Amino acid sequence: MDDRLIVQKYGGTSVGNTGKIMNVAKRVVSYRNKGYDIVVVVSALGDTTDELLALASKITKTPSEREIDMLISTGEQVSVALLAMAVHKLGKEAISFTGSQVGIITDSSHTKARIIDVNTKKIQEELAKGKVVIVAGFQGTNMDREITTLGRGGSDMTAVALAKVLNASLCEIYTDVEGVYTADPRIVKDAKKLDRISYEEMLELASLGAQVLQARSVEVASKFNIPIHVRSSFSEKEGTFITKEVKAMEDVLVSGITLNKDEAKVTVRDVPDKPGIAAHIFGAIAANDINIDMIIQNVSRTGCTDVSFTVMAGDLPKTMKLMKKVSEEIGAGGIIFDKDIAKVSVVGIGMRSHSGVASTMFSALASKKINISMISTSEIKISCIVRRNKGEEAVRVLHKEFNFGGKK
Ligand code: ADP
Ligand code: ASP
Ligand code: MG
Repeated sequence: MDDRLIVQKYGGTSVGNTGKIMNVAKRVVSYRNKGYDIVVVVSALGDTTDELLALASKITKTPSEREIDMLISTGEQVSVALLAMAVHKLGKEAISFTGSQVGIITDSSHTKARIIDVNTKKIQEELAKGKVVIVAGFQGTNMDREITTLGRGGSDMTAVALAKVLNASLCEIYTDVEGVYTADPRIVKDAKKLDRISYEEMLELASLGAQVLQARSVEVASKFNIPIHVRSSFSEKEGTFITKEVKAMEDVLVSGITLNKDEAKVTVRDVPDKPGIAAHIFGAIAANDINIDMIIQNVSRTGCTDVSFTVMAGDLPKTMKLMKKVSEEIGAGGIIFDKDIAKVSVVGIGMRSHSGVASTMFSALASKKINISMISTSEIKISCIVRRNKGEEAVRVLHKEFNFGGKK
């Protein structure tokens, strides 16, 4: 491990305007002055990515994913250049690069590409010249030199991948909150900052909607045991360390509550109840690169049944188009969708050895008359689908019930 090398990633919230970019530059320079080699990964300014996507949707509801990548990868190119200029202004040498220039090679899965390889030569050369190296997050190129992006929140992935290939001693993720909290601090005012959390729990929290880190980046960090420190770019305080599980973590029953409003439910109605039907439906979904979350198949009383599942809201138009075709092929009664849903989840390693979390969760939701329409569980989490307008209230009641991650 290279003890002198740190990878720092600054999210869009940390570079929202030129004042904030200067603030980031000052922090980068202060680390450089302490003698560290610094590789900085930056996201697009503020809400740029959303704004670019909104522009595209004014042109068409079904844009080509290649062109989406061409469009949204531009956001990060703006911020790296501005940050390099800000570091220059403070009298230090810095150079900015796009993902393609530093050789971040991905597969061809546009808008959710996976990194296959990173060529570190260029970065190493510039570090050796004493420069701060600033890399555009969220992007790479495939083998045909087509620009790809790494899924929303993908700058976290860029940072973790660079920390891995450069053998960095630490990967710091700078954001607008002081670390990982027991729930989204925007929803729960008295949410508590966690000092430490295991990769496994963080992966669940991130997958279930805790936006603070991209789930896939946590997966990779866990695989290669890369320590992550999530902290605020606006304060000097220590944030949250994400590490391997330590013994004391098991004492905590529930460590976080999440909300995801980014899913939609699709129901294929009156599906013939016979072997091979589920394989037909979900085979088509998988072949089209659509990720499914929850699945429910009702009991059939009449030889027909309804099959419901949830997908990312962004995949809904594609899924509906596909299911129309599949529904005709299998002789189903038709399809409907519901965008008005939210998923609330409780996560904690302690669930492995303690029972009763599910019943506590259901009664807490019932106490507020919040109806549950789908449930799914794993070893360390329980998720419920509720009406979207009840999502935040559900998070607050659960946060209170589980004593914000404290011992029960
Ligand atoms: P960045 O631009 O730095 O990548 P994001 O907006 O992607 O920032 O992520 C930070 C946001 O994640 C915070 O502002 C916070 O509201 C939200 N968030 C959701 N759940 C959590 C949680 N459990 N802990 C901390 N932040 C959370
Ligand atoms: N700008 C990208 C996004 O908004 C990547 C990131 O912020 O990590 O998803
Ligand atoms: Mg982010």
